[in-house]
This record gives sequence, C-alpha cells and structure tokens, in this order.
Amino acid sequence: MIPTESSYLTTLNENQTFIRDTIREFSNNKIRPLIMEWDEAQKFPTDIFKELGNLGFLGIVVDEEFGGAGLGYLEFAIIIEELGKVDPSIALSVAAHNGLCTNHIFRFANKEQKKKFLPDLTSGRKIGAWGLTESSSGSDAGGLQSVAEKKDNYYLLNGSKNFITHGTVGETAVVMAITDKAKGRKGISAFILEKGMKGFFAGKKENKLGMRASDTSQLIFENCKVPFENLIGNEGEGFIQALKILEGGRISIAALSVGLAQGALDAAAKYSKERKQFGKTLSEFQAIQFKLAEIQTNIDAARMLTYRAAFLKDKNIPNIKEAAMAKLFASEVAEKAASEAVQILGGYGYIKDFPVEKFYRDVKLLTIGEGTSEIQRIVIAKELLKEN
Ligand SMILES: Cc1cc2nc3c(=O)[nH]c(=O)nc-3n(C[C@H](O)[C@H](O)[C@H](O)COP(=O)(O)OP(=O)(O)OC[C@H]3O[C@@H](n4cnc5c(N)ncnc54)[C@H](O)[C@@H]3O)c2cc1C
Repeated sequence: MIPTESSYLTTLNENQTFIRDTIREFSNNKIRPLIMEWDEAQKFPTDIFKELGNLGFLGIVVDEEFGGAGLGYLEFAIIIEELGKVDPSIALSVAAHNGLCTNHIFRFANKEQKKKFLPDLTSGRKIGAWGLTESSSGSDAGGLQSVAEKKDNYYLLNGSKNFITHGTVGETAVVMAITDKAKGRKGISAFILEKGMKGFFAGKKENKLGMRASDTSQLIFENCKVPFENLIGNEGEGFIQALKILEGGRISIAALSVGLAQGALDAAAKYSKERKQFGKTLSEFQAIQFKLAEIQTNIDAARMLTYRAAFLKDKNIPNIKEAAMAKLFASEVAEKAASEAVQILGGYGYIKDFPVEKFYRDVKLLTIGEGTSEIQRIVIAKELLKEN
C-alpha cells in the first residue's frame, strides 16, 4: 500500500481526518462492490446519493442554516479525491451536484430561494443539474442560444442544453439563458428550474466512454414558463455567476483527477508485487519501479496544486489562475497515470476484471469537462499576462 497520507500538503485536522476516513470507508464498503454493475448498465445509483446526503456530503460548502455541512473547499477536495480513488463517475456526480447546481444557488440566490431549494439538495432528496453547455456553445460558453423572454409575470424559456450531468435524474436545475441578446454575455441570466414544470424535460441520455454511472443528457425547454421569482440575482448576471461557479468546479475536478490517479497507481503497485515474470515480481524490475515513482511524484505535485487552490478559495483570495493550473496539471497527470497503470498490468489491464480498465476510460473526461486543457492554458496565460 502506497502511503498516500504522507503526501498531504498540510496535516489534516481532526475533523478533516474524520471526514476522510468516513468517505473512504463508505467508498470501499458501499460503492466499490457495485462499480462495474453500474458502469455496464449506465445506472445512476439513486440510493447511494440518499446515503451520501445523510452523511452530509451533498451540501459540503453550504451553510448549516440551509442544511449544508458548512465546510470549505479543502474538505470538498478531500471528499472528491476519496470518491475518485474508488469510482470517478460517482465522484463526478457528487462534484457536479455540490459544486455546480447547489453552489450556484447557495452563492447567488436570495434568501427565499435558498430556503426553498437548498434543503432538498443538501439532503439528497433532490439531485441537482447545471446547464451552461449547448450544442453550438461548449468552450465558447458565452455563445449560448437558449432564450428567456420576459412576459407578464414569467420568462418564456426556449432552447436546449447538451451534456448535462444529472439531466435525466436531476430534479432541480440551474440554467443559463439569454434575456437581452443585444448585451452579449451581459445579457445572459441564470434561472432555477424544477422537473415537472411544463415544457421542461430531459432529452437524449448520452451513451458514454466512461463516467457511465454519472447520468449525462440533454435538457430541453419548450415554451417553459419560469416564474420571475426563479431568476437568480439580477438579469444579465448569469454568465458572470457561471464563470465564478466554474472556478470552484475546477478545484473539484482537480481533486477528482488526483483521486483517480492515486486509485490507478495503488492498483498498479499492488499488482506489480503479485505478478511474476522471468522469476521475479514486476515490482523488482527497475523499469516498473521508475514508472511508479514518477506517477506518485506527479500525483503529489497535483495534490499540492489542488490544495493550494482550495486553500486560497477558502480564504477568499483570488484563485482563477491557481484553480486552472490545478485542473490542467492534475487532469493530465491522471491521464498519464491511468495509461501507465494499464501498461503495468499488461493484458490484464485491458480487461474489466481489474479496476485500471475503468480508470483508463473514465479519465478522458477530466481534460474536457469544466473547461478543456486548452481553455485552462488560455485562462492561465491570460491571468499571468495581467500580472506581468
Ligand atoms: C460527461 C460530461 C459531463 C458534462 N457535464 C456538464 C454539465 O453538467 N453542465 C454543463 O454545462 N456542461 C457539461 N459538460 C460539457 C463540457 O463542459 C464541455 O464538453 C466542454 O466545456 C467542452 O465543450 P465542447 O464539448 O463543446 O468542445 P468544443 O468547445 O467544441 O472544443 C473542441 C476542441 O476544441 C478546442 N478548443 C475550443 N476552443 C478553443 C480555443 N479558443 N483555443 C484552442 N482550442 C480550442 C477544445 O479545447 C477541444 O479540444 C459535460 C461534458 C461531458 C462530456
């Protein structure tokens, strides 16, 4: 067993250690045995989410007043990392539920909206979705086309969203739409939608390469009447709100990357001590030892970048560049770790009986979702050029 704890940036305090041990035990006992069943069937495990809600892991950064755990991004990162070590698709869903939909309402909605929507989300009674991406606007998220036209006492919402985590299973959604086309990005607003609203429904459920237990689908809006009171903040603030939400989201994807990479490495290290070729275990070959050493070094560096971004976020210190750096580096480290883990297992790495096959499929999402690696590089360069 690789001593992963030795690589934590800071010594975890008693509460953080308790949180880590709780989610680790839960992941090993409740999630690990069912991973491949959910993966094969593309099944989102609703019951597991109810249990995660009971444990306080579905409102991690939300104040206790609204049913949350009142924790910070460091604890959020620890939780996502532990889940990611075992099942990245559950980690992705927990990250999206907490970091996107729930956090958008917590950070930008008014008190009435928070009281109305947050307790169901933080408890896991309802799953959250968050819709920015559309078929013609991905990296260029500000180019979205969905329109919310102001009427007497409601907005008439038309359009669609693509690739939305929890598009099918989610019951509460935050979606961005144009309220004033002439103002460009400053004419985009954010709304809270509830499943059951007429004209709001899920479209095609995606059949994915990896992250298959995490539900992904289109959202469709057809003359959906959204009450005025479901507007978050003021008209025109939606895009800026979304960018701020994505900053925090990147920290959670970085943490997920660290977890996935560590999970893949732990599996490869264990296997290398069991498998014998040429009369020796694989772990006795220096070529294999060097792979393990290099991956662990990169994982530790990725974890430190992730914790730095989380630390800054918890202290309300600007962290756009640091969050993007953590996400970029950690996701690319995870890609390499998953690939090398398969290599270390050889043919056995390529079959579904060993966990590295799934890590290898799941990992690709991490350099794409919540801003691709190319977009992270653009963000980092923009920020550093501002400083120089
Ligand atoms: C499983 C999954 C879950 C998701 N969940 C959500 C969700 O819950 N909510 C949500 O809103 N979205 C979600 N997304 C969407 C995700 O955020 C987008 O897929 C991502 O932002 C990239 O957009 P795109 O797929 O349209 O790619 P594109 O923007 O079309 O990019 C294609 C390629 O071109 C590159 N590229 C684009 N612009 C530039 C540029 N200026 N310079 C250099 N290279 C560039 C990209 O880096 C990429 O390599 C999810 C996606 C997936 C696959």
